[in-house]
Amino acid sequence: MHLGRTTLAKFLIQQLHDRPDGGKLAGLLVDVAAAVKTIAALTARGALTGPGDTAVGVPNASGDEQKPLDVIANQVVLRCCEWGGQLAGMASEELETPYLVPPTYETGPYLLAFDPLDGSSNVDVNVAVGTIFSVLQFSGAGAPTERDFLQAGKTQVAAGYAIYGPSTMLVLTVGLGTHGFTLDREIGNFILTHPNLTIPEETSEFAINSSNERFWEPPVARYVAECKAGRTGIRGRDFNMRWIASLVAETHRILMRGGVFMYPRDTKDPPRVGRLRLLYEANPIAMVVEQAGGLASTGRGRILETTPQALHERIALIMGSKSEVARIERYHRDHDTGQDLPYISPLFNERSLYRPEARV
Ligand code: MN
Ligand code: MN
Repeated sequence: MHLGRTTLAKFLIQQLHDRPDGGKLAGLLVDVAAAVKTIAALTARGALTGPGDTAVGVPNASGDEQKPLDVIANQVVLRCCEWGGQLAGMASEELETPYLVPPTYETGPYLLAFDPLDGSSNVDVNVAVGTIFSVLQFSGAGAPTERDFLQAGKTQVAAGYAIYGPSTMLVLTVGLGTHGFTLDREIGNFILTHPNLTIPEETSEFAINSSNERFWEPPVARYVAECKAGRTGIRGRDFNMRWIASLVAETHRILMRGGVFMYPRDTKDPPRVGRLRLLYEANPIAMVVEQAGGLASTGRGRILETTPQALHERIALIMGSKSEVARIERYHRDHDTGQDLPYISPLFNERSLYRPEARV
């Protein structure tokens, strides 16, 4: 057995020892890791885990159907992280309003926002799921309110995700690069296996839910059409498409070998500007991706610059390899300034302002 390996706790102490409240942040992230180990054990048991007596089939705070594991995973994170005196409160996909640390425990300088089980529709089909988390500074006094969580993503002090695949991994950043840890189940420790993850700048792999194609905006349709045209189109090379329908799994693939992921704004449900939640999905993923040299955008601006308006706000997310995300942002600019006219195929032009008969 190799004795010189870097455990998560050792890594965090090294990265955070000279930061104000660094010890508390390290303690909090170790507690998050404890929750992750428990959720890893639960998800690994699959159908052997009974449904228990928890609510099933009820929509959660952000409108998705709650599965038993969503509820249990949420409880696991709350119990693991509430007691240590690092947090003032938590926000979860599964809770309508912020969770306050019970008065029996000390409170601390941080807020935790999390998605306890991301991609939980994948549980039934035994495909990777995950947990996503974001740590914010709490600068207020007394009990935090929803407003305290509504900070732009660039203020996050730490962020990351766990992926429950064939192996369990924890990928996180405290603003000093993005690093991956693999759970050694025999020992019960997360071991640093992927230091300084870097997303390749170039890629030939894209991920998007094509069943929404008819609702896409022209810049997204243009980008995907060009990828699909491959070697014969203006990109001059063939692309591959991937779609796992799990943000964590898509992010992990992109961190390992590059790629671009899009859940863009579309016209399917006009009042809703995107599918993913800003505070506990897009923001932490954006920090992890940027710290690994990638970009994360709405198509029209950096995710991390967005000021949230509500706890469960949704947003468009386009992230991954730098050069591709920059290109998709450029296509949005071209479109918004009317410069993409020559590029848009008539197919995507049917209801566009550029059609002569549509002009008034
Ligand atoms: Mn999710
Ligand atoms: Mn979830």
